Amino acid sequence: MASACTIRVRGVVQGVGFRPFVYRLARANTLAGWVLNGEEGVEIHLEGDEPGLRTFVEDLKTQPPPAASIAEIEVQSAAPLGLNDFTIRESGRSKRPTVRISPDLPVCNACLKELFDPADRRHWYPYINCTDCGPRYTVVVSLPYDRAKTTMRPWPLDDYCDAEYRDPGNRRFHAQPVACAACGPGYFLRSGDAVLAGSEASIRSAAQLLNHGGILAVKGLGGYHLACDAGNAPSVAALRERKFRKEKPFAVMARDIEVARGLVELTPDAEGLLTSVARPIVLAPAKANFAQVVRGVAPDNHELGLMLPYTPLQHLLFEAGAPKALVMTSANRSSEPIAYEDDEALERLFGIADAFLIGERPIARRVDDSVVRAGVFGPAILRRARGYAPGAVTTIPSDGPILAVGADLKNAITLVVDGQAFVSHHIGDLGDYQSFRAFRETVQDLIAMYEVRPRELLVAHDAHPEYVSRAHALALGVSQAVPVQHHRAHIASVLAEHGDWETHVVGVSCDGTGYGDDGSIWGGEIFVGSVKEGFERVAHLRSASLPGGDAAAQYPVQAASGFLAQLGMSDLPDVTRAPFYFSDRFGRGLELIRKDVRTFATTSVGRLFDTAAALLGFTREITFEGQAAIWLEELARTAPLTEAYPFPYDGEELDFRPLLQAVIRDRLCGRNLREIARAFQLGFARGLCDALNTICRVRSLSIVVLSGGVFQNELLLEDLKGFLDDVRVWTNHAVPPNDGGISLGQAAIAAFADSSQH
Ligand SMILES: [Zn+2]
Ligand SMILES: [Zn+2]
Repeated sequence: MASACTIRVRGVVQGVGFRPFVYRLARANTLAGWVLNGEEGVEIHLEGDEPGLRTFVEDLKTQPPPAASIAEIEVQSAAPLGLNDFTIRESGRSKRPTVRISPDLPVCNACLKELFDPADRRHWYPYINCTDCGPRYTVVVSLPYDRAKTTMRPWPLDDYCDAEYRDPGNRRFHAQPVACAACGPGYFLRSGDAVLAGSEASIRSAAQLLNHGGILAVKGLGGYHLACDAGNAPSVAALRERKFRKEKPFAVMARDIEVARGLVELTPDAEGLLTSVARPIVLAPAKANFAQVVRGVAPDNHELGLMLPYTPLQHLLFEAGAPKALVMTSANRSSEPIAYEDDEALERLFGIADAFLIGERPIARRVDDSVVRAGVFGPAILRRARGYAPGAVTTIPSDGPILAVGADLKNAITLVVDGQAFVSHHIGDLGDYQSFRAFRETVQDLIAMYEVRPRELLVAHDAHPEYVSRAHALALGVSQAVPVQHHRAHIASVLAEHGDWETHVVGVSCDGTGYGDDGSIWGGEIFVGSVKEGFERVAHLRSASLPGGDAAAQYPVQAASGFLAQLGMSDLPDVTRAPFYFSDRFGRGLELIRKDVRTFATTSVGRLFDTAAALLGFTREITFEGQAAIWLEELARTAPLTEAYPFPYDGEELDFRPLLQAVIRDRLCGRNLREIARAFQLGFARGLCDALNTICRVRSLSIVVLSGGVFQNELLLEDLKGFLDDVRVWTNHAVPPNDGGISLGQAAIAAFADSSQH
């Protein structure tokens, strides 16, 4: 007598080869029944003998497809229907598409084996993939996820691929981007007017070019990379010069995990991130003597951003003898977004790349590499893009769809549909026209994919009246718009990850810039409250001036004028002379403050750190965001343990004046720069913790939430961890602590602002 059961599997189980996996598992255990993609996940009906059913459930739990992530398995006994085979059923069409778009996946081991097997049909075929691996988000044009709606549309399957595509027992069953050299796209190499055709020949030739120190533009999953030998100093220098990228660290792709281990110190957590299916760039401490990577790759930085190959093409380049460690940086000039269209890439990268390795498969949307770190408080995502986007990061209760448009810097957007919060890939700085275009396309893209009409949307946007994200959102013709204050959104982003709407917490939000309730520029705020009841600002950094607005973020010396002016001129040495040598931007800053022209009040911790960096010698213009603070952290990192400078809290304000006075005093008496940097950072951490411990005690709270770009500073986090032992600390893990996480917090706050109005 046969038994039967129904199984519901929730989590990331759609678009990751789950149904063919279930099919093969059922056949292996001689079970009959069916599987389909249902409203809330995968639904399975099984019948057969008891041991077979048990083995099935066991294997389901222990050997799911590599890209799947099972949140819950629910097994219920059912009445046998007398079925005699197992089938994959078509999903019923519900009101919204239920097949979520999975993030892009790295090539799987089974495909890699075929790639390097001379007897295999796809030997050396750079677009090999199967249901367990390959592109998703970067090839999807619209939903439902079918080949005709991907960028593979121009390449009809030949009989061989078609047979695999239709065979439920095959690893390529319904693998939408499946192809082979006979029917699919290929790669070619273009150098000037010369074109070398043929995937294998062009890849081998490209590897040679890299070996000889050339700079190669390579088309990848979500855009073009610029690659060169990371161990070749002249190549790295040439890349910097041609790309107008003076100092910002380049990411490096290591041939394999052994090479990676030789380059950086990898903790088990960091190694887990490096080899995870997201295949992000992992920031890890560089080893002291590494031959394959020259210093110019990441100047003034103890960390190196490292990733492993994730496309078949990248594996082939290494196989063809490319250097073991390659610089792999987004192919763009300075702050522009990653190039992704062939003509655009050829045009924009003219004069940068010596040759272009061009794949014929179009890219549906530009998606950068993600950047992560195995942080002090657990994994931290600093840039969330390929491999993570557009996955749902959490659930947010809401009646209707919510679109949160994020901030103007490090923009990413969030769409909440049926309670699922989908966070887009990193889009970038909307002040750049290309990024703004990508922002508009992403908004269109997501609402079209999930079939949301703008009219039904609740929109959440930053309270900054001049943000273009806000203006664009309001122009969509939405039903309701909720402004959300920047720093509250940071705190809410952490609570949204925890799915916690009611717990009262102490939230610390420290960053460079955000529009405050009073119209001034905030960035050092302490709140008390919950997502549901709102956050009351209970303390903040003492206010300083910000002369010249945004320009002050570009010049630490200009930011310094706004903070040092608070010390009183009589307390101030002549900082234009030794040992400070501030440029005349300092004097011009003071002049703006004196005349009250283009001067704003600010509580920005980012600018306070810039001020300290300026006092310690970082007096030039920054060439990438956060550079001065990173420089300061690097100085402090190598210092011996030292006494903290005073940073007193009076119950409302944290006073930076004693902190900066101590820096100036020690600088004047010639104390070691590294010790001063360390005492400053330690003082900041100690003062902040004193404030937090006091607030927690007075208000009987035990959870501290940290968010905002300043908390990308690992040394600061280490110090805070040491000083905050009686409280629990919550930080971001699924979205960045910087402005890339803002949209998630906006969506959470808007969800509750909305319900309280009804
Ligand atoms: Zn595969
Ligand atoms: Zn084929």
